[in-house]
Amino acid sequence: LPKSCDVVIIGAGAAGLMCALTAGQRGRDVLVLDHGKRPGRKILLSGGGRCNYTNMWAEASNYLSQNKHYCKSALSRFTQWDFQAMVDKHGIAWHEKTLGQLFCDNSSKDILDMLLAECNQPNINITSKVEISEVASRDEGGFTITTSMGTVQAQSLVIATGGLSFPTMGSTDFGYRIAKQFGHSIVATRPALVPFTLGKDDMARFANLSGISTEVIASCNGASFREALLFTHKGLSGPSILQVSSYWNHGDAITINWLPHINVEEWLQEQRTARPRAFLTSILAEHLPKRLATALADWIGEKGEASQWRKESVQNIITMLSECRLVPNGTEGYKKAEVTIGGVNTDELSSKTMASQKQDGLYFIGEVVDVTGWLGGFNFQWAWASGHCAGLFV
Ligand code: FAD
Repeated sequence: LPKSCDVVIIGAGAAGLMCALTAGQRGRDVLVLDHGKRPGRKILLSGGGRCNYTNMWAEASNYLSQNKHYCKSALSRFTQWDFQAMVDKHGIAWHEKTLGQLFCDNSSKDILDMLLAECNQPNINITSKVEISEVASRDEGGFTITTSMGTVQAQSLVIATGGLSFPTMGSTDFGYRIAKQFGHSIVATRPALVPFTLGKDDMARFANLSGISTEVIASCNGASFREALLFTHKGLSGPSILQVSSYWNHGDAITINWLPHINVEEWLQEQRTARPRAFLTSILAEHLPKRLATALADWIGEKGEASQWRKESVQNIITMLSECRLVPNGTEGYKKAEVTIGGVNTDELSSKTMASQKQDGLYFIGEVVDVTGWLGGFNFQWAWASGHCAGLFV
């Protein structure tokens, strides 16, 4: 390692690499340190191997944070179109999958290769497999970073170590520890974009449905998402569920509209007139996978022919189909969470530069900060934007 440099960035993930290439273009001497085997491992894994690298509709309302205004400045100064311009400059083939989500046609590796190519400047050094044991501020300004490969002095220090999710990809609480060391507060963290687990009774209700997917509207604490729901052998997953998990706290209920594309009340009335002798299961099977139709009909418990249903029973069927209440007993945790909610409190950071207001020369970018995006390319867009903005000032 060099004895000194202008900028040390800890974490060679999405945000760290973006910050490095931006600072490098300004002629800053940059050293990126990562304890992993290679840079950008989460990028490679992302989007099922095709990296959902941004979203056409990214804006502040797609993010959760204690201060919902904090992300606005960075998102407007480095937009999805700025990132897309870099993708196009490198000739990477891409497509919109759904809901503005932009993916690589080929592989996530295209995005990582692009970032590494942009970092291929003589003044940028990316070093992997290095452990950082201590970070200290110096009386004369700047920092001393003690590592398994020696000691480095730097004017600016950028923390880009991400959140706690997916520990198999090298996630640690390092960023939060450094933040606390320099007097920052941490907004409580919890796994987000994560599958739910269900208790015994609900699992019994949905036994044998594992692998079935259906479009629903899932809602929790005022947020609603119309996307697929997937039954798993532990509970519920799929995009709609991952999205609402970010709004969920232990003990909260979620509600599911199983038939988002129709007016349930009118449809039931039509069915009862057209098929008076039909049972609920076969009516539901018109619009739902058969096994799910059976499970819901059993749960609702209406055993009579359609023409015999009493008024209260019809009302109960409507409620169960359009506002079905479930109380998950937990989530699959950081192991399966795509992101971490919470993190370094944005009240103590500059929204323009990402700099600490507690310690000169210290910056926090990416997922370690209390800014969490929805599913759909928003988390990478935050990493790119915050990395870029810090890169202009470090
Ligand atoms: P990271 O990319 O996590 O990088 C942090 C880096 O810091 C890592 O390289 C790590 O090794 C290093 N590090 C950590 N601790 C230390 C330490 N103590 N010392 C040295 N180095 C350290 N988001 C999207 O927008 N679109 C997607 O398609 C998408 N798919 C995902 C799929 C999966 C399976 C997962 C887990 C996440 C996905 N995400 C996606 C979320 C996205 O990957 C993250 O939000 C994003 O990578 C955060 O960037 P970051 O640079 O802040 O952190």
